[in-house]
Amino acid sequence: MADSSKFQIAIVGAGIAGLGAAIALKNHPAIDVQVYEKALELREIGASIALGPNGMRTLERLGVNNALEDEVAFRNKSRHPMIYRHWQTNEIVSTDSHAGEVEYRHLTSRFYRAHLQEALAKHVDPSRIHLSKAFQSVTSDATTGKLLITFTDGTTATADIILGSDGIHSPVRTFFVPTSGTAWTGWVAFRSVFPYSHVAHIKDVPDEANHFWGPDRTLFVSKLGRDLFTVVGSYQADPGAPDAPWKDSAWDSKGDVNVLRGFYKDWSPLTRQIIDAVPHTNVYPNSAARVLDTWVLGGGRVTLAGDAAHAHGGAFAAGGSLALDDAWAFAASILHVFPENATRKPTDTEILTALRIYEKTRKPHTDRVMSVVHENNKKKLARYSQDSPPESDEQLRARIKNRDDPSWIHEHDVQAAFARAVAEETAGQVGAGGQARL
Ligand SMILES: Cc1cc2nc3c(=O)[nH]c(=O)nc-3n(C[C@H](O)[C@H](O)[C@H](O)COP(=O)(O)OP(=O)(O)OC[C@H]3O[C@@H](n4cnc5c(N)ncnc54)[C@H](O)[C@@H]3O)c2cc1C
Repeated sequence: MADSSKFQIAIVGAGIAGLGAAIALKNHPAIDVQVYEKALELREIGASIALGPNGMRTLERLGVNNALEDEVAFRNKSRHPMIYRHWQTNEIVSTDSHAGEVEYRHLTSRFYRAHLQEALAKHVDPSRIHLSKAFQSVTSDATTGKLLITFTDGTTATADIILGSDGIHSPVRTFFVPTSGTAWTGWVAFRSVFPYSHVAHIKDVPDEANHFWGPDRTLFVSKLGRDLFTVVGSYQADPGAPDAPWKDSAWDSKGDVNVLRGFYKDWSPLTRQIIDAVPHTNVYPNSAARVLDTWVLGGGRVTLAGDAAHAHGGAFAAGGSLALDDAWAFAASILHVFPENATRKPTDTEILTALRIYEKTRKPHTDRVMSVVHENNKKKLARYSQDSPPESDEQLRARIKNRDDPSWIHEHDVQAAFARAVAEETAGQVGAGGQARL
């Protein structure tokens, strides 16, 4: 039950960002956190997710140590976050390495998404999570000074602040910034998670996370926690083509394993054996949105986190960790203006300060991620366009070796960024945020 005498924070969306923020704020005696989730039950889609050292450190900072356990988090024993192999010879062409010192428990890990969500949900009082509550709109109540959220079932809830953590298509974001809808990138992922026993018989099946690269697609394979295995295949279409396959497919819809097998028919015997063992697959047409001008919305009372704030379409397998870092930074910014021993609620100016610190902590970093992703998407489309000549083996190997080094994303230090943002805000260097819509 929401307590309007406390400082009310409404979190819209119980994904990684929303649950992370709820966990980070749950111990404040004068903050009332309520999470509104549109789904009927908390259930993750049947796919895998990777977290880099930044996400793993933030999980630990949030006290979600159960997600760091080997039982659910699979780490490469070589410590390489990713191993890149040739599509026909299987040889290792390159590897990613952690740039800084990374302790074992923070090494890049792969999860079955449901295991990660379960681990997070264990730290949130279930009575604070309201299911079947799909955000529709917000108004401001001049009498109480509160925000009034309306859900699609006609019910309402009050809040002092709203955190929109409602995913890539974010109704909160598009309510405040109607031009911020997503567009299909043309990339389609075919994702499968199944028991490791399906591939255990295959000689040389990789026992680490491996990304095979070919001229026109890639194949990701990895063990996950609790003896699961994941395979992610891909198809790149021209997003502008009216007849592009899977253009209108629903996210997480059932795919055809025979189509997947067809994609890899010329690949190495090892990759084909793995693909032949895949029992089922689901289809995920990828989309992305443009960078937002500001994350300080609703007259300084609403902000965004996770994919809602930076709909980058999952590139670099970074979205989960970015969402966790957002959640931590949002909570840290609120606690900066409203510490646990505060004797009164924060003023509107203090709330605005908190949202600016949050934006300053996160947005420059995620804007950079988004700009690299958009640039890479353009390059990918150019490479796959019908007019471009086929890539030679030499060019493919050079592309693998010259890929972006993602360590600046996966080892980003959110605490240091927060400290810098606080210092800048204190020095009055942060520009005015705010985008009134209420
Ligand atoms: C198949 C797949 C694979 C991915 N692989 C990786 C990976 O390997 N590594 C990685 O880091 N990232 C990966 N990503 C991206 C990563 O999952 C996201 O970046 C991350 O989940 C973002 O978390 P979030 O909390 O912002 O959004 P979500 O996890 O999408 O959560 C949003 C929540 O909001 C709810 N919601 C939506 N609309 C409303 C509404 N109107 N009202 C209330 N609630 C609403 C949704 O039901 C959902 O529960 C992948 C994404 C997918 C889907």
